[in-house]
Amino acid sequence: MTTTADIIERGKAVLIGNYARQPYVMVRGEGSLLWDADGKQFLDLFAGFGGTVLGHCHPVLIEAAARQAGALWAVGNTFWTEPQIELAEMLNRLAFAGQAFYCHSGAEANEAACKLARLRGSQEGGNRWKIISLDKSFHGRTLAMIAATGNPNYRKGFGPEVPGFINVEPGNFGALESAVDDQTCAVLMEPIQGEGGVNQYPVDYVQRIRALCDQRQITLIFDEVWTGCGRTGHYFAHQGFQGTDDALPTRIEPDILTLGKAIGGGLPVGCMFAKPALAKLLVPGTHGSTLGGNPICMAVARAVFHVIERENLTRHAADLGTWAAQRLRKEGRLQGKVVQVRGQGLMIGIELSAMPEKLMDRALAAGLCINLTAQKVIRLAPAINIPTDTWKEGVERVIDLIAAL
Ligand code: PLP
Repeated sequence: MTTTADIIERGKAVLIGNYARQPYVMVRGEGSLLWDADGKQFLDLFAGFGGTVLGHCHPVLIEAAARQAGALWAVGNTFWTEPQIELAEMLNRLAFAGQAFYCHSGAEANEAACKLARLRGSQEGGNRWKIISLDKSFHGRTLAMIAATGNPNYRKGFGPEVPGFINVEPGNFGALESAVDDQTCAVLMEPIQGEGGVNQYPVDYVQRIRALCDQRQITLIFDEVWTGCGRTGHYFAHQGFQGTDDALPTRIEPDILTLGKAIGGGLPVGCMFAKPALAKLLVPGTHGSTLGGNPICMAVARAVFHVIERENLTRHAADLGTWAAQRLRKEGRLQGKVVQVRGQGLMIGIELSAMPEKLMDRALAAGLCINLTAQKVIRLAPAINIPTDTWKEGVERVIDLIAAL
């Protein structure tokens, strides 16, 4: 009989070891539950790094994928296919008036955004090519995106660095403003930092960045790869920025929005969504992707938004997030162990007072899929349609786990 250990041994022989994999072989998922090859059940409170935003094997997504799979898989982007258009129409309704470019991942969406910002910089106002991003940010693993990412650890051993990316302290507007010069073409930032530890900024910080970008013809790129598609209680997290300083723009929209993870519901979809005045610069030959926007991924992405809208899941995510933050903050057993509970909607960071020992081992042994980032921040990001009772039970189990550390 094949055991889990046998499968892992086979995997170690043939798969590159760039992931710190846990000793479980997952074979089946349904909603927020997962089962491994030994039949052990897990409560999934991290949704595969945010990808399975509607849980595992959602029947509407299965239907959308199967129907499209029986009609057309791929034709190349020299033809029109309607699922691409329908998804972009949806983004126009739910985000802002814009035009879409599709790819397969968040990193690729950010690459496209940075290329477009540089293209604008090369055409408007001289030779502008520098891109400012924030310390503790994460934007992906390509050569350019590790330069953009505000954590030098991701760059070690991969030099020389792609030039033109400057990291500044998040939340410090003065630092960002002084980093801007005549060669700056873009600011790239997450509305809430994910990998960096679920870090939020004061709204007036973002307001001032928007105003600065307007004054200096700088492209503002919001990387909503983690925060997009309903997770934070808004379709897109920037819609939750309510400007407090009336002298500055109160409605804070990016010039380019990048999406990944959740937009494909678990299939590989990335999207760069740009305001039309910018988007028009990408003429034939400037950028592309062979399978980006393939009809199956597009049909599923469209169904993801249908379900979020129909079931009012932004509200659900907001309510469950508010409940959890309150519950976690008032639990006496966590005093001294938890420094801060952060986040919005179902993107929650629980900062511990010390680096926990064997947290992931303990969580998985207890049947809980969670995540640890920035050394001591537990992240919870379940499917946004997780049933209320399941979520409440999950949060109680996370409390027990932390209390026992
Ligand atoms: N941007 C953000 C904010 C992310 O959190 C990630 C991945 O975690 C990425 C970009 C990269 O996305 P992908 O892994 O799909 O390339």
